[in-house]
Amino acid sequence: MQGPPTDLAGLELGELESFVESLGHKRFRAKQIYRWVWKRGVTDFAQMTDLSQELRAALAGAATVSLSDVIKHDVSEDGTQKFVLRMSDGKQIESVFIPDTPAQTFCVSTQVGCAMGCAFCLTGKMGLVRNLSAGEITAQVRLLARSLDLLDKSFNIVLMGMGEPLHNYEATMKALRMLNDKEGLGLHPKRVTLSTVGLVPMMDKLAGEALMPNLAVSLHASTEETRGAIVPLNKKYSMRDVIEACERFPLAKRRRIMFEYVLLAGVNDSPQDARKLVKVLSGVKAKVNLLPLNAAPGIPFERPSDEAINAFAKILADRGLNVSVRKSRGRDIRAACGQLIVEGQGGRKSAAQKLAAEL
Ligand code: SF4
Repeated sequence: MQGPPTDLAGLELGELESFVESLGHKRFRAKQIYRWVWKRGVTDFAQMTDLSQELRAALAGAATVSLSDVIKHDVSEDGTQKFVLRMSDGKQIESVFIPDTPAQTFCVSTQVGCAMGCAFCLTGKMGLVRNLSAGEITAQVRLLARSLDLLDKSFNIVLMGMGEPLHNYEATMKALRMLNDKEGLGLHPKRVTLSTVGLVPMMDKLAGEALMPNLAVSLHASTEETRGAIVPLNKKYSMRDVIEACERFPLAKRRRIMFEYVLLAGVNDSPQDARKLVKVLSGVKAKVNLLPLNAAPGIPFERPSDEAINAFAKILADRGLNVSVRKSRGRDIRAACGQLIVEGQGGRKSAAQKLAAEL
């Protein structure tokens, strides 16, 4: 009995070559198909006009090129756009386009929900529903690039949507290889930033990859105690473990690890916290991105005052740290960091919910 059609949008070029060969056609045809899918955003084999009629018919009988459905598309006053996408099994994820020029950025999800349960994050409240496949991760890029007419333009990708990318390691790495392939988008790894909350063994594994994205680490505190209270993973991999993994992480010349630090009023935003953070980062080539909390119903924390945010940033800058304060984007459409949640598909009660109850 014939199985379900193979989704060509989930295959690396080598896999696509083997598939084309299995249909009795020459391997090099795979490059043509890859270009149609990735460079031109085509999903209909009939439009792949440089393929023979015979190959197009064979593909139509055995394969498909998936593209998720957009079930909601919101445009913020500041130009940020949020796409809610439905996967083939009905699960939903969110992807965000941030139109800052010159770097246009796609914020992409790697999981439905997230198991990490950070106490200030709405996605964490969902718990992990499931991992995305490499095809589903890359489909977000294909869809946004096609919808926004950016297929032949340069853009950046941040793996900072729903999910912890290193908790879905193999699919994430496969997605990066697919995006990098020169027959497709040819996206240089320097244009990709992978954000982790500190899965230390996977950080070490990433350090050995041929395709190395920029690394961002969600630190969020300057003491083990505070980090343990807001990032449940700290109980398994302490802040010290994470910093040591950063110290041994290979960095190209002039590259730095981005440390993300969500500022929570009265929790981690004092001048003492800032001074401790400088010490914690003293052995790492670091830059710091301060993320004043995007307050939301259900999140038991407040955004610090602008004075507290500025004072915190000044202490870091005065001590020589490269520091930026995130300008929050898309808050009116709930597209800002930590605000990505798709209602009604939560998994188990998340660690964040338990933690929020304890606080
Ligand atoms: S902040 Fe990131 S790692 Fe933490 S729960 Fe949210 S999505 Fe997961």
